[in-house]
Amino acid sequence: MGTQASSEAFKKAQGLIPGGVNSPVRAFSSVGGTPLFITKGEGAYLVDIDKNRYIDFVQSWGPLLFGHRDESIEEAVIEAVRNGLSFGAPTEAETDLAELVVSMFDSIDKVRFVSSGTEAVMSAIRLARGYTGRDDIVKFTGCYHGHSDSLLVQAGSGAATFGNPSSPGVPADFTKHTLLATYNDIKSVEKCFADSSDIACVIIEPIAGNMGLVPADKEFLIQLRELCDANGTLLIYDEVMSGFRASINGAESITGVKPDILTLGKVIGGGMPVGAFGARAEIMAKLSPDGPVYQAGTLSGNPVAMAAGLAALGKLKKNAAVMNTLNARGIRLVKGMKAAAAEFGIEMQIDTRGSMFGFFFNDKPVKNFADASNSDANLFATFHSKMLKEGYYFACSLFETGFISTAITDEMIEDAIKASKRVFKEIADA
Ligand code: PMP
Repeated sequence: MGTQASSEAFKKAQGLIPGGVNSPVRAFSSVGGTPLFITKGEGAYLVDIDKNRYIDFVQSWGPLLFGHRDESIEEAVIEAVRNGLSFGAPTEAETDLAELVVSMFDSIDKVRFVSSGTEAVMSAIRLARGYTGRDDIVKFTGCYHGHSDSLLVQAGSGAATFGNPSSPGVPADFTKHTLLATYNDIKSVEKCFADSSDIACVIIEPIAGNMGLVPADKEFLIQLRELCDANGTLLIYDEVMSGFRASINGAESITGVKPDILTLGKVIGGGMPVGAFGARAEIMAKLSPDGPVYQAGTLSGNPVAMAAGLAALGKLKKNAAVMNTLNARGIRLVKGMKAAAAEFGIEMQIDTRGSMFGFFFNDKPVKNFADASNSDANLFATFHSKMLKEGYYFACSLFETGFISTAITDEMIEDAIKASKRVFKEIADA
């Protein structure tokens, strides 16, 4: 499987784009080798410029629940394009998508669309601060909430991969209101509340996907909710990744614990750039133009992006049972890989939520970022590059989550398990 054309394309890109990529984690830095340059996607497959085909477990980092080139999403987008790319004026598609999204979550009455997850979270934090009149926020080490200044503190995903959890260029003054707590550790949150009486919100990925897949314990979320209520603090669920992926109706439907503000992204745009934040009407009433908290966007609610989102979420709502099928495939994959690894004396920790799956080369359960960081990064890098050669495209960092799309069949999963067995054997024999 040659990757000469990708290597050359990468070299050229590096001369013109920092690191050759427009989002750092794409550069394959932590696994080594050359990132593949993609020409097209087709169902379960990615095709690179050397004409290699890979089963895609990345799915554009989450958005493509129905795989590449889903017919109904593609048709909806083409139809929307024919009416114009952008108007900067209201369209009914925005209301339709808002209605659909609101119908899927108990916790939200109203929703505002933006163009990325970063924007959604940044705006949600501003809303929480505007609503409560407080400045401090609590975030968890290893959770990633986009790259806005005050959230780029001990973040997961690419920020963790690159070992610069707090980025230069972010003034200390901008992050002094960001308090840090440990995931799944309520005492660490209690300490934040003991240190500050000015906490506007606690933001959490209720099913964390940016330190690998690490779901929050239900009991922890219940205690978090109680702590927020007792202190007049809002609870924000960042479900940019887990929304429509872990469950159709959000983490609140899995855990029974509701947030005050919810942020969404990825699947909500069906592959087009869409993010969203929503809350109950009383909180959303603070948002401009109804209220004083300002937020805006030239391309927000873009008609082509709304059409893609409507097609994707409409299809998901109609086929709610699909999440069980995806979960069964995810479980089969990680259990199969774990069993294959065990044959060669390699220990793995595995988990799934809906269409999300995670695995760590670790002999202990992973409950937080410190646990995740204790995984064997070298083994992960070797596994990643050998699976790539077998034709399986996994996320190129151990601090990421895998995704199953409806285009990935049981047979593909079985073949992936067999490939992993060959890979573990090679690793053990080396
Ligand atoms: N929040 C979470 C939980 C995410 O996973 C991400 C992106 N992976 C973001 C926010 C930021 O979204 P975007 O990359 O669309 O800005």
